[in-house]
Amino acid sequence: MLHAENIKAKAFELGFNLVGITRAEPSPTLDAYKRWIAEGMHGKMGYLARDDRIIRRDNLQIIQPEAKSLIFVGMDYRSTAIPDDVLNDPARGRIASYAWGLDYHDVLEVRLQLFADWLAEQETHQHKIYIDTGAILERSHAQQAGMGFIGKNTMLIHPRRGSYFFLGEIITTLEVDSYDEPHRETMCGTCTRCLNACPTDAFPEPHVLDARRCISYHTIENKGWIERDLRASFGNWIFGCDICQEVCPFQRFSSPTNEQAFYPIDVDRAAPRLTDLLSLTDEQFRERFNNTPIIRIKRRGLVRNACIAAGNSGDTQFIPYLIQLLYDEEALVRGHAAWGLWQLMRRGAIVMLTALYDREDDATVREEIEAILP
Ligand code: SF4
Ligand code: SF4
Repeated sequence: MLHAENIKAKAFELGFNLVGITRAEPSPTLDAYKRWIAEGMHGKMGYLARDDRIIRRDNLQIIQPEAKSLIFVGMDYRSTAIPDDVLNDPARGRIASYAWGLDYHDVLEVRLQLFADWLAEQETHQHKIYIDTGAILERSHAQQAGMGFIGKNTMLIHPRRGSYFFLGEIITTLEVDSYDEPHRETMCGTCTRCLNACPTDAFPEPHVLDARRCISYHTIENKGWIERDLRASFGNWIFGCDICQEVCPFQRFSSPTNEQAFYPIDVDRAAPRLTDLLSLTDEQFRERFNNTPIIRIKRRGLVRNACIAAGNSGDTQFIPYLIQLLYDEEALVRGHAAWGLWQLMRRGAIVMLTALYDREDDATVREEIEAILP
């Protein structure tokens, strides 16, 4: 049987900042999760509601037969490289800090694989590696592994590190000589900063996040049209949102990551100029965002989000760019450009939007214009 102490020492040697070990038992928050799904709060992330996924969450042995332990690791990701006035500049689109560098899956997976190989050298084991794949209720198991508490903002928070860290885990058939005690369930006390700060009111109650109202969900997971009523609350966020983490008082304990891969190569990586995004070609998009989490949303998702940020900016310099996008080949982009233009020009946009309506053969774009125009 392996010593937990040795396993943890190896995790730190591999560059992880946190480690915790718990038994491979069902998550204590599974029922709350099922209620969340039943109420449809997962939005269009249908994969989360699939029966086979839920059954696997109920029984980790289906994921890894004979699983005995869950070894969790955490790696800090936040860098302090970008000043707030740049991030909040309405002429720039803001990217959540977890996505400033290279894709964290790639960075963590290599180390978790090395970790799993090292474990195999100590004792033969079968295992599965996961990094934020949604296969298990990561945060809740990590709380069981003593890695922190789950805040009212639903994030896993380490009382001396905050919540700016990635989680990864190895589900293994190995047993260890001692398991971590679960962390205290909550340390939020009477604080409600995150709930109050959310610009879209995405928390119907503490500890419950309605993804259908969350900027992070819409700018990343929602591949289609973004609800019109929410757009004006997005500010300049174009990929994710850090607000409910940023305002958390425990964040003052977070330290800048040592992992260079998570640092932005320049200011424009964390907060690209909207003029650049609004004129982005497919080729430029691939070149600029390859190997980063942003590649997932494709050019059309990023330009859609940039149209909303431009509409929210109050800055007329974006008008010519949005007019150009009324001719974009993607209906999604044409429709969101129309909304952005209306935000900046109001009645001044009527002629252009009417012309778009008349030549438009996509029903969703026509619906958008009907909804916008008085
Ligand atoms: Fe609200 Fe942003 Fe947090 Fe989503 S990520 S719940 S929009 S503050
Ligand atoms: Fe808890 Fe306050 Fe942090 Fe929200 S901001 S997670 S309520 S401590």
